[in-house]
Amino acid sequence: MKRSFTKAISVILCISIVCCAGSMAAFAAEKKTDCGADCEFYPTIIIPGLGQSNTWVLDDNGDFVLDDEGNKISSFPAYIQIPELIKRVIGPALLSLVTQRDMGLSTALADAIELCFGINTCDNEAKPSEKVFVEKYPYPFSECNEEEMAEINSHIPFDKYPTNLPEDHLYYFTYNSFGNHVDTTKELCEYIDMVKEQTGHDKVNIVPISQGGTFANSLFEYYPEYMDCLHKVIYIVPALDGSTIIGDVFNDRVTFLEADYLYNGFLEEIGLLDANTARIIEVVARILPDEVLMACLEAAVERLVESVMTTSTGMWALCPSGDYLTAAEKYLSSPERASIKAQTYRYYQAQLNSDANIQKLLDKGVQVFNVCEYNFAMINVGETWDTQNADYIIHTDSTSMGAYFANVGETLPDDYVQKNTYCSNPEHNHISPDRVVDASAGLLPDTTFYFDGQRHDLTQHNSIILKLAFKLIADDEIKDVYSSPEFPQFNAGRDVREIETIIDQAKAVDASSLSSEEASKLSAAVAEAERVLESNTCTAEEWENACMNLTAVLIEIGVLEAEKVPSGFFEKLSLWLYDNYGTNGYSEMPLLTVKNVIGGVKNLVTGIIG
Ligand SMILES: [Zn+2]
Ligand SMILES: [Zn+2]
Repeated sequence: MKRSFTKAISVILCISIVCCAGSMAAFAAEKKTDCGADCEFYPTIIIPGLGQSNTWVLDDNGDFVLDDEGNKISSFPAYIQIPELIKRVIGPALLSLVTQRDMGLSTALADAIELCFGINTCDNEAKPSEKVFVEKYPYPFSECNEEEMAEINSHIPFDKYPTNLPEDHLYYFTYNSFGNHVDTTKELCEYIDMVKEQTGHDKVNIVPISQGGTFANSLFEYYPEYMDCLHKVIYIVPALDGSTIIGDVFNDRVTFLEADYLYNGFLEEIGLLDANTARIIEVVARILPDEVLMACLEAAVERLVESVMTTSTGMWALCPSGDYLTAAEKYLSSPERASIKAQTYRYYQAQLNSDANIQKLLDKGVQVFNVCEYNFAMINVGETWDTQNADYIIHTDSTSMGAYFANVGETLPDDYVQKNTYCSNPEHNHISPDRVVDASAGLLPDTTFYFDGQRHDLTQHNSIILKLAFKLIADDEIKDVYSSPEFPQFNAGRDVREIETIIDQAKAVDASSLSSEEASKLSAAVAEAERVLESNTCTAEEWENACMNLTAVLIEIGVLEAEKVPSGFFEKLSLWLYDNYGTNGYSEMPLLTVKNVIGGVKNLVTGIIG
């Protein structure tokens, strides 16, 4: 490696950068390592995803607002103030219930949304509220206190999968997800300068994760000189072209504002509730007429989008380029929002130039890697949710830099031929074994790793992705998807929590209480579970079987109880209601008894109020 030459060039460039931007000295420059920049490692900066930075609520005096237990209160995703919420909503809610009309409930709910999320509203210059404090770590991981380390480990478990990279070479950049995108990008530059000064190294690695990917876009577009300070860029599920969730929400394509879907299936398909709970909510929701409920939801969504989300350039950076122009026309056309529009339009250019800028990195010799997750249906909030492959939060076109995918649950046609848009090596087969992905159509066919069936927000529970990322930041052994059989291009998604829990439970069993047959069954099942957990390349089926087998043995020896299958009563009830009464609330149903009861209560209440 021609280190001295690149070092000289970098020094010249960096001097010029420092001279051009005298203000970029926000972080302390004290030396934090004594490697003398002469070690085998590159300092690495994690740029985490949405909500993976601590942001705290401040009061008018700039002091932390504390809860009853004396803990700081998070502003992400909202500052929930329960007593105030109840005070505002309870009256209109009761009135609306008894009158079965919208007696100020929709307005009260919209106000409640603003009360909670309003802390994240930015001003007309797209500047966030001064009442949001971003916790920062202007020093390496080795100098973080216990609390800070725990916070970082909760997002990226360095404690669980140790990396060879020394902790004084590891940095965690934080930002406000609802904040100002332009300012955060500038802060990222300052942070890179700080890391270089603290370590003495002239090059760093950056690891943009999810929303962090949007800051890589803007960094390369607004400050291309920083490309020369980079050794490696390791993207993890980056939102390089936003997420269709935001594109749909910003363009009035919200599924749960369709009554038929809301009353039948939305909650179950959202993936956050079990089927029974989802159906119970559907049944309970009918205590209000559908018009009232829909008016409430519409008012709440409108307020959230209009007053909070569309003031934040951080949120705008998550809008796909294909959706930006129509959404900007709708929300940013007024003269008051001209500055927000200018800032988002600038980012829109960065988004359009994302591939070209990554190509520039490659031309400069920067190594660029990517991790993409697929075959997990998009959360069903936006209308386009089931029209393309996704990882639950981001559509794969965005995270894969344009690779070609069959939709979730489908495969590429039998006669499909690899596109080879970006791969010219005829030896390479970039079609996934499950015939869902054609990686050759993505910008980085030879350095993008794909994980089947992996959910975006559970990435930190995929041991393979973590081991891969930590290997990439620690050394240069992996050059591409062919470097190591341990890390092939296509791999399976996983969530290690369940298998780890049952292994622990199995190991805690007192073997002397078991028959010899039971004991040997148990130890064989544990051995297989441990094998698949350690293996980076076991199939999804092997994983599943090992989990099921160990669970079955634990049930057999009485450590676990067989899971009770919910009766499906509420599903049947909800479907019966939907089939017979559509989306109507109970008061709208031609049931004399219900009508009589409601009428009685109504008379009583109007009697009292009147
Ligand atoms: Zn070093
Ligand atoms: Zn290739």
